[in-house]
Amino acid sequence: MALIVQKFGGTSVRDRTRIYNVARIIMQARAAGHQVVAVVSAQGDTTDDLIAKAAEISAHPSQREMDMLLATGEQITIALLTMALQELGVSAVSLTGWQAGFVTDRAYTKARIKRLDTERVESELARNRVVVVAGFQGLNRSEDITTLGRGGSDTSAVALAAALHADRCQIFTDVEGVFTADPRKIRRAKKLKDITFDEMLELATCGAQVLNNRSVELAKKYNVELEVLSSINPVPGTVVKEETDVEGMLIKGVAKDTNVAAVSILGVPDVPGMSFKVFGLLGQRNINVDIILQSTGRDGKKDLIFTVPRDDAENALAVLEANKARFGGGDISVETDIAKVSIVGAGMQSHAGVAAAMFEALAAQNINIQMISTSEIKISVIIEEKLADRAVAAIHDAFIH
Ligand code: ADP
Ligand code: ASP
Ligand code: MG
Repeated sequence: MALIVQKFGGTSVRDRTRIYNVARIIMQARAAGHQVVAVVSAQGDTTDDLIAKAAEISAHPSQREMDMLLATGEQITIALLTMALQELGVSAVSLTGWQAGFVTDRAYTKARIKRLDTERVESELARNRVVVVAGFQGLNRSEDITTLGRGGSDTSAVALAAALHADRCQIFTDVEGVFTADPRKIRRAKKLKDITFDEMLELATCGAQVLNNRSVELAKKYNVELEVLSSINPVPGTVVKEETDVEGMLIKGVAKDTNVAAVSILGVPDVPGMSFKVFGLLGQRNINVDIILQSTGRDGKKDLIFTVPRDDAENALAVLEANKARFGGGDISVETDIAKVSIVGAGMQSHAGVAAAMFEALAAQNINIQMISTSEIKISVIIEEKLADRAVAAIHDAFIH
């Protein structure tokens, strides 16, 4: 008997038919003698719809109230799925994130899991029940509801798998696994048999939404072997693990991220401590800075350009404008019609010319590169947003045969 955590995303539970489909997948695992903890997302586009509802009321809703609202989506699913399981004669119980013991930090709408108290889940498992847990949600120390950021149910599932020492964590979704590019956009994308945690982490961070990047981070930390697979087609998916066979694939994937904005501060003083002040201000507000460019100083001034998530751009601008005097001023502006396109693969560490091949593919499409950043296993470029799909297709063609 194994303990399996199975996570089902929004499309997989979008209506009655899909809920029963999921209930049957769980029932099969039970029939095979396994214990199951199911983690579920809100149905279909529920989370987006709730965000739209909030926008009807307020342009700047309180983050605390946003989490109060968004957490309701997952609660609908846990109840419906548990009812379906019970209809099929499977003993099951639903638990909210807080009933399941998720304690998070205070950061509303992008909280991090601090602790997971699994007693309740374990006692329900001991009663031979399937435990259906609401993903994406927890409780902070003030006992307020928090959510883990978009795609956060993946993180809930991996955290539970780690805390319960589960034998497997299966992420059921609406595609058959992790592909070399978004299979909905690139028809020639190939399904990967496996991928390393490091590669998956880079892909997820670069916009491949099939897994949330924090879930991969956690899986790596606690060595939880993940499988990404389809809830519709029962075929083998993609295994995410520490090491994979060397298959000679130079690039594992191409990803696009449009949640990007570039902030420019032109003419900041060219003095020690300036970057510390600028990025310190953003760090205090939990705003992640990604690519940073700095011009060489001239006449005691320099230019600073960096990228932040687009949904944080307005906040970044506000905090920088309000604290201009602290870092010595400059002309601050934000550009939002950009996208980040990245290639990821551990193979590039031992091969020269990968960056050149990527830039060549872009040059052939006459696409201008605005910023470049690299890590050992990733190369990212910032380009005009409207050219991003073309860029992904061209780069994918250049690397994946
Ligand atoms: P869920 O609701 O199950 O969490 P998501 O919508 O969050 O599903 O993630 C699955 C989607 O991720 C797929 O439908 C696909 O369009 C997209 N995607 C983007 N990049 C990739 C990739 N490299 N491999 C597989 N899917 C990808
Ligand atoms: N429902 C949340 C979202 O849409 C969490 C998730 O699906 O993982 O982002
Ligand atoms: Mg998701």
